Amino acid sequence: MFRAGMIQQLSSGIYSYLPLALRSIRKIEKIIREELNSRSCEEVLMPAVLPAELWRESGRWDLYGDLLLRFRDRKGNDYCMGPTHEEVITDMVRRNLRSWKQLPWNMYQIQGKFRDEFRPRFGLMRGREFIMKDAYSFDVDEEEAKRSYQRMYDAYTAIFKRCGVQFKAVDAATGDIGGEMSHEFQVLADSGEDLILSCTSCDYAANIEKATTSRLATNAKKKANEATQHALEEVETPGQKTIEEVSQFLNVDASRFLKSLVYEADSKPIVVLIAGNQDVNESKLQAALGCGQLRLATDQFVEKTIGVLPGYVGPVKLDPGIPIYADLSVQEAANWISGANKTNFHIKNVNVGRDFTAELFMDIAIASAGDSCPRCERGRLEEHRGIEVGQLFYLGTKYSKLMNCCFLDENGESQPAQMGCYGIGVGRTLAATIEQNHDEHGIRWPIPVAPWEVVVLPLQLEDEKVVQEAEAAYQGFKAAGIEVVLDDRAERAGYKFKDADLIGYPVQVVLGNRSVASGLAELKYRSNGEKMEIPLTELVERVKNWILQRRGGDI
Ligand code: ATP
Ligand code: MG
Repeated sequence: MFRAGMIQQLSSGIYSYLPLALRSIRKIEKIIREELNSRSCEEVLMPAVLPAELWRESGRWDLYGDLLLRFRDRKGNDYCMGPTHEEVITDMVRRNLRSWKQLPWNMYQIQGKFRDEFRPRFGLMRGREFIMKDAYSFDVDEEEAKRSYQRMYDAYTAIFKRCGVQFKAVDAATGDIGGEMSHEFQVLADSGEDLILSCTSCDYAANIEKATTSRLATNAKKKANEATQHALEEVETPGQKTIEEVSQFLNVDASRFLKSLVYEADSKPIVVLIAGNQDVNESKLQAALGCGQLRLATDQFVEKTIGVLPGYVGPVKLDPGIPIYADLSVQEAANWISGANKTNFHIKNVNVGRDFTAELFMDIAIASAGDSCPRCERGRLEEHRGIEVGQLFYLGTKYSKLMNCCFLDENGESQPAQMGCYGIGVGRTLAATIEQNHDEHGIRWPIPVAPWEVVVLPLQLEDEKVVQEAEAAYQGFKAAGIEVVLDDRAERAGYKFKDADLIGYPVQVVLGNRSVASGLAELKYRSNGEKMEIPLTELVERVKNWILQRRGGDI
């Protein structure tokens, strides 16, 4: 985008949008507006500078952390730049909402947001100031709220389809605890920051941070319960600490080991158990524990609290003050091998229930490519990289309760509104479109979001006939409603071709003196590099038809 002259950096993560970028952004915004307006969403525009009081009401003034840019006005009042607008819209709605009869409401805005990102990078992909479409829904009950959520899901599907990008909607809920619902819309691109797992057979797809592992476990669990439990047996494993080392030393498969990890959860020690051939997904663990801060304990911390180094930690005879949390895989086998809480020793035949108890069994394993699908159990999971361009959240009554945004229901009782919030990164959508559609020469726009559709390239500006035909073609396209640029700069042909490829005009119309003399124009389609000669008399009509077929909406 820098090379094509689309954006210019003013400061870290802060950009000016130059004409080409702004044209594409306006097109994306138009698609968004059309799809939302047709689903009864109403556009509003909220301020970018937000008073701290509102953020204190929701508790986020303290919780939001360093992403929030805070400052004072001349009177000493605290303000922030809005990174998202749940507080403002909830305040707007509570001042107007009286009765259930007024709902549902869905309001959105397209506005500049500010987040003081730790590492702004890749241009518009992760800026500090960026354009977002944010929408918020208010409903009478959970069922209606979920209907609103579904409507937004459908709108997002339509929006990204019309933008001409390849995308996937993936499950981004933080697990089934709490019944929260969230989806991310991910544009597929190798350079994407996010890892997505999707099923080869059904439509299951999830961010790897959230992906559930297969629940085929029931059978295994039954078998484990029925297995004969052998007596505990200590074995000496001098200097063998990692699962790999001990499994080689004892000549037993890694899957037979109970990996016992010590974490600090909100500064308190906990032990987390998982089968030796699996790994803990820390975002799932944190969500399942519902804790604020979670980190793997240092060797020193483990030694201090348990008395041995990490390799020898296990669940048997553990200090009862240290809670144990276990992955579901721990229920799937009997007679485990684990650390013995004694330096240079492991212990064989460890069994759930008999030798230790866990506070909670939960799905906290990392799902990975090749696993069987947790939904259909037939397909396999495969891995993709993606760029998160949008996200949907079902919020429930979190903000409406904290900020007293209530209405009287049919029985005259006061109820908090059920809310959802829905974001699309407009600039990131543009950047992701380019990331997915480019080659070494430049951008290969999908027509619906290309800044311009056609460039007319007269090669010899001194040739009157060429100039005349170029002007005629330019006027012809304009009259036909095609977005056209006439590149009449006095530059070499090669230079202009390079620019045309870089900027990525979907159709290049090349007019050279020889072809013009034979009544022909040369066409090049940027998407596939296809070139052809066509009679000047058919030029506008043929290009117009080609473009109209690809606009994919009334842009
Ligand atoms: P990320 O995980 O990438 O930081 P997020 O999940 O915090 O994003 P949301 O709060 O879901 O972001 O915001 C809605 C949308 O806004 C995102 O899906 C993304 O497209 C866009 N967005 C968020 N942060 C940025 C940013 N720093 N620069 C550009 N777009 C952004
Ligand atoms: Mg998000």
